[in-house]
Parts: sequence; structure tokens; C-alpha cells
Amino acid sequence: MNFNGKVILITGGSRGIGNSIAKEFVKLGGTVIINYRHNDAAAKQTLKDIEDLGGYAVSIKGDVSSYSFTKSMINDILNKFGKIDVLINNAGISKIGLFIDMHEGDFDSIIGTNLKGVFNTCHSVAKHMIDRRQGSIINISSIWGEVGASCEVLYSASKGGINSFTKALGKELAPSGIRVNAVQPGIINTEMNKWLTKEEKEELEGEIPMMRFGEGEDIAKLTTFLASEDSKYITSQIITVDGGYIKDKN
Ligand code: NDP
Repeated sequence: MNFNGKVILITGGSRGIGNSIAKEFVKLGGTVIINYRHNDAAAKQTLKDIEDLGGYAVSIKGDVSSYSFTKSMINDILNKFGKIDVLINNAGISKIGLFIDMHEGDFDSIIGTNLKGVFNTCHSVAKHMIDRRQGSIINISSIWGEVGASCEVLYSASKGGINSFTKALGKELAPSGIRVNAVQPGIINTEMNKWLTKEEKEELEGEIPMMRFGEGEDIAKLTTFLASEDSKYITSQIITVDGGYIKDKN
């Protein structure tokens, strides 16, 4: 796989899984743009990680749940780099809690970031990709989008929406030479899971056939494959990376 000369936009690229995906593309020669929302220090660190790998990246701060921000970010990238070859929709938030304790604002922020964010970027980039008759879009979903998680109803709904969105958009854009796929991770070692106690973490690990949480790199390796020519006949797919966790949970 080789991404020399390719321009890759990664939303939520400043931390966790996004950081791993950014580094993997850079190792393969890609030019990476990382988007993030709040944490300047994390974005700076990711840019440094990329520089240390001998790569080139820029960061763009802003909220993917805003259509106008997303549109202007994509226009700015097209003006500066001339193209976007790969779009990775990775930005995401979660909130754990009973459904009856959720508020309308939780619905708006979780669906707004996780699902509307994917609509926003895809809507702004699709025409450009159609004009070039090439491009690859990869959405980072979750196993909970497939099987649903207790105490993560809104998060599960947002990821289930991403899965259907991916399958449908992949079909619609395939004749234009664009592929759309999703990766649905199981439980990955990032700050999103920092709230787990040691005991809760051990209990969860015990339920995973591979007996460990995944690492960002496990997601990044599949993501780069799905973005590459090596997967040129794969589209509209939701691919699970979870150490065997949800096999019997449907
Ligand atoms: P992290 O919390 O570690 O990182 C989230 C990233 O998304 C940060 O870069 C954050 O930026 C960015 N972000 C959040 N909201 C927005 C927004 N509105 N606009 C732009 N950027 C935003 O998450 P993970 O790395 O764990 O998760 C990455 C993706 O993988 C998410 O979509 C998540 O749902 C999914 N996933 C994660 C799993 C896990 O176990 N960790 C399992 C399954 C799926 P900032 O820090 O500046 O706010």
C-alpha cells in the first residue's frame, strides 16, 4: 500500500483512534489533515508524532456537527491541496447513562457529532469526488451500532445510523468510482474508555475471546487497507474489529 501524493482528511484525528489512523497513513506516505474540536495540546502532539515519522500534516480546529464549518473546512482543504482522496469520519463522542436520564441536548450533541457530522463531511466532499470519479470514504462506527448497548442508547442509534448511511451511500456512489465503507470497532484503549474502573476493565476483557481491548493501531491497519487500491472491489461494507467480542451478542 502506498499513499504518496494522496490527501487524507481525518475528523477527530488529534487523539485516540484518529491519532493512530493519522500515523498509519503518514507511514504509508500520505499527506494528512487532522480535524479536532477542543484539545489544542492533543492536536499539537499528533502533529509532532507525524513530524517525528518524517511526514507532513496540518490541523484544522472546528466542530463537525456544524454544516457551515464542515463545508468551509473542506473548501479550504481543496483550495490549499487541490483534492481530497480519502475522507475518514472518525470524530465521535459518547455518554454513558440510563436512557431515562438523557436529555434532548444529549440527543442533539451525540447524533449531531456522530451522525450529522458524517452527513456534513460526505455532503461537502461527494461532489468533488464525483467530479474526479475517485475517492474513498471510511466511517468509524461501533459494534454497538449493530447490536445496541444498554446505557448507550443514543450512541448506539448514532452508530446504527452510520452503518445504514454507509451501506446506502456506498451503493449510490459506486457507479461514480467512489467507495464507502465503515469499520466497527469493539472496545479500544483510548480516553473514551478511561472512565472504566480496573475491575470493570478486567471483567470486560474476560468477555472478549482475545481477552484484551483493541489498540488504535488495530483500527488504523484496516482503515488504510480500506482506503487503498488493495480493497478496490470492496464497498458498502461494515467490517468489525473486536477480538471476537460480538460474535454471539446479536
Ligand atoms: P477519543 O475521545 O479518544 O477522541 C475523539 C476525537 O474526536 C478527538 O480528536 C476529538 O477532538 C474529536 N471530536 C469529538 N467531537 C468532535 C466534533 N464535534 N468535531 C470535531 N472533532 C470532534 O475517541 P476514540 O479515539 O476512542 O474514538 C474515535 C472514534 O471511534 C469515535 O467515532 C468513536 O465513537 C469510535 N469508537 C471508539 C471505540 C472505543 O472503544 N474507543 C469503540 C468503537 C468506536 P477534541 O479532543 O479536540 O475534542
